[in-house]
Amino acid sequence: MNIKNYINGSFQNPIDNQWLDNFNPSNGEVYGQIPNSSKLDVESAYQAAASAFPSWSKTTLEERSRILIKISEALEANLQRFAEAESKDNGKPVSLAKTVDIPRAASNFRFFGNAITQFSSESHDSVGQDAINYTLRQPIGVVGCISPWNLPLYLFTWKIAPALAAGNCVVAKPSEITPMTAYLLGEICNDAGLPKGVLNIVHGLGTSTGQAIIEHPSIKAISFTGGTSTGAHIARVAAPMFKKLSLELGGKNPNIIFADCDYDDMLDTTVRSSFANQGQICLCGSRIFVENSIYERFKTDFVHKVKALKVGHPSHQSTNIGALVSKPHLKKVKKYIEIAKEEGGSILCGGHQVQLKGYENGYYLEPTVIEVKSDECRVNQEEIFGPVVTLMPFQTEDQVLDMANKVKYGLSATLWTNDLKRTMRMSNQLQAGIVWVNTWMMRDLRTPFGGVKASGVGREGGFEALRFFTEAKNVCIKY
Ligand code: NAD
Repeated sequence: MNIKNYINGSFQNPIDNQWLDNFNPSNGEVYGQIPNSSKLDVESAYQAAASAFPSWSKTTLEERSRILIKISEALEANLQRFAEAESKDNGKPVSLAKTVDIPRAASNFRFFGNAITQFSSESHDSVGQDAINYTLRQPIGVVGCISPWNLPLYLFTWKIAPALAAGNCVVAKPSEITPMTAYLLGEICNDAGLPKGVLNIVHGLGTSTGQAIIEHPSIKAISFTGGTSTGAHIARVAAPMFKKLSLELGGKNPNIIFADCDYDDMLDTTVRSSFANQGQICLCGSRIFVENSIYERFKTDFVHKVKALKVGHPSHQSTNIGALVSKPHLKKVKKYIEIAKEEGGSILCGGHQVQLKGYENGYYLEPTVIEVKSDECRVNQEEIFGPVVTLMPFQTEDQVLDMANKVKYGLSATLWTNDLKRTMRMSNQLQAGIVWVNTWMMRDLRTPFGGVKASGVGREGGFEALRFFTEAKNVCIKY
């Protein structure tokens, strides 16, 4: 199936007629083509967005809200179709796409459709000066949204929905590795009555299509989720043009387990936080630290549970671990398993590519647990972003805090303990944008979402996202 760009409400071939292959990770086969859009396509998308802006930015909040909620409902009505498309494009189990990815994409539109009706700005009474200041929160204009392949529609819509709700027009690019559901979204937007040009979706490589978006002098804000090195590049390009930037980048998140936790709950959740979506979630707890007194027990129980996970075709109901997203990514993850061995790590389970009968060319890998000797080894420091976790014991709170923080990243951290004082002490000191205590990836869309250090700049979610997608203008009136 061939994908087209969605520009000015219609589906268009790339102007230069350049195309890329789209692979199905479950069998390694090419199953369609996608535009490799050039500057010309990005310019056309920009022009459509710029033309739509004067009218869209003046649409009443009720009307914007109504359209966004209609998009949400249409996604829900097409759940099965979207879940199957996401799974085929990404390799994730259909069951996961059906329960997490697509429902969350629908929630993103519903949430921001509602949030915009509650978004308000401040006024400041300048007492004694006979003046009042009030703040306008005005849409920026045309904004760029660029998203990665791991949670394709989920993260794509997490940016687009607040951008549109706030009254902006959008030029968006999904990952070239997983473009399908973004393509399907265009149809839904037309059916829901989103005016032409308000949302434009261009497909193609980051280095050409993405680069044209970030370089465009009139695209005044970029919301980006992806790798840390890409984020650094975008910051270098965008900074001299004084663009507003929101960067959600990589992670190497600690999962810290104290002996006083609710053991069974912790064990089940840790299996999920390690391997959900084949470990390809920026929030996965890829470094597991376990208090000495329960280390051996945990190691045995955890490995037992991980061995029971079924690697299988994404469309099979019994599959826990689907295919990795691409051949190069599989190669990268396998390389880290080799690095772990060279560094003296012990592979407690997994470590091998899996050849599924009938799908021998699919990108399958066993969930892998590596016991490491030092928290400073490469597999403990560098983002692998696959079904691979490291395991290490710790003695004291101070020691584990030091190890948890001693990485360049700071996206999320998980803490398992029932000690309230320790919870407070550690949550305060963990260098992360998000700390989960006795749970993982429990999301409330009103909360600020983002990382510190090399995990990013800025926050998404709730009113933070609406603030990002608006410019504050203060008006001072003397009376
Ligand atoms: P990536 O950086 O390779 O690509 C992300 C997006 O950026 C893609 O759409 C890509 O085409 C585009 N891109 C690449 N080069 C570009 C350029 N020069 N200009 C403009 N756009 C460009 O990342 P990926 O491999 O798709 O995703 C995996 C990474 O994303 C991991 O590091 C993961 O941790 C991170 N991630 C972070 C979060 C978060 O919320 N912090 C969420 C999901 C994924």
